[in-house]
Amino acid sequence: MNRRDFVKYGIVLAGAGGLGLSVLKLFDKPSPDNFQHNFLALDKPCSFPFEFMEIHEEGKIYPCCPNFVDFKPMGNFYDQDLFSIWNGKKFKELRNKLLKGDFSSCNRNICCYNPAEYTKDFNAAKQLPINIHLCYDQECNYKCITCRDEIFTNSDEELAKLNNEILPKILPFISKLDEIEFSGGDPLASRHSRKLIYEVNKSNPNINISINTQGYFLDENNMKELGITKLYSVGMSIHSATRKTYEKIMRQDSFDRIMKNLEFISGWKKQGKLENLRIHFVVHLMNYKEMPAFVKIAEKFDAIAYFWSYKPWESAEMHKRYKEVAVFEPWHKDYPKLKKMLKNPIFKSKHCILYPELLKIAEE
Ligand code: SF4
Ligand code: SF4
Repeated sequence: MNRRDFVKYGIVLAGAGGLGLSVLKLFDKPSPDNFQHNFLALDKPCSFPFEFMEIHEEGKIYPCCPNFVDFKPMGNFYDQDLFSIWNGKKFKELRNKLLKGDFSSCNRNICCYNPAEYTKDFNAAKQLPINIHLCYDQECNYKCITCRDEIFTNSDEELAKLNNEILPKILPFISKLDEIEFSGGDPLASRHSRKLIYEVNKSNPNINISINTQGYFLDENNMKELGITKLYSVGMSIHSATRKTYEKIMRQDSFDRIMKNLEFISGWKKQGKLENLRIHFVVHLMNYKEMPAFVKIAEKFDAIAYFWSYKPWESAEMHKRYKEVAVFEPWHKDYPKLKKMLKNPIFKSKHCILYPELLKIAEE
């Protein structure tokens, strides 16, 4: 099997209003057209459980975003070995199911199914996944309205556990992989994730590192401090195109700093130090009118703007107001306005990807 490039032109899945993110390659050239094509394909198994694993809070392991699958975790790396989880019974069962065309464990309406070419039992021939996505560390210096109402910081005990027990356990596994992706929380704001980024880059300087961040610490000084001189992929969660809306959604007065950091990282792309740059936008009532302006920001900084519809996340009070904010639901009073706006040709830009629910509205 050829190495698959999960992150290039990645689709990032907003597990919530926050960003429990999975990134993968769906196609060679991003466009809403081939995005849809891949979603409709049914005749091939999905490559995820063959090539990818995702680690969530409390060490739970999934083959893709847990919001997409209706099964329990494939294992728990706090008390199991990652090698044996990857080569274990649960992963094998799922692979065999998919090879038979059985998607009953999956939610294909919202998931990021990636058609694979395997025609026979792949049998986890690779002893390791190609790409791992680390989402277990929730520390972040923001409290975005869609994600959480209080800033979350790991306690001293939790931090000691993450650094002294989890890090030595995970490092030998992840530093052997082709690609590693950090999210969570915000990996650049988290003390544990920063340490892990530094260590993994030191043990394998050739590894492709991807980071999902709001971008507050995405600047030259922080890259130097982390020993990072190149990155494979960056996804910045911005969710707005103006300072005013940014402050309402992200609850931080830092829009100018974020734009400056976007300019910095876009410079890395120009210099060949970064391969892929994405900016993320979770759509709801408070920001949908800024979607066209957000695509323009993506065009300006040679990034790709990714749009998803808001998914309620119980850690934030906003989930109780789903009916009020779910502008993409046909019963919402602003739905016709959103639908009309999505006819704007700017959404056909090569710098824009609409997630399927929005793409469907655009094409109605
Ligand atoms: S930046 Fe922090 S608070 Fe905001 S969505 Fe991401 S993890 Fe949640
Ligand atoms: S088809 Fe969807 S839910 Fe199933 S493994 Fe692939 S990405 Fe996950």
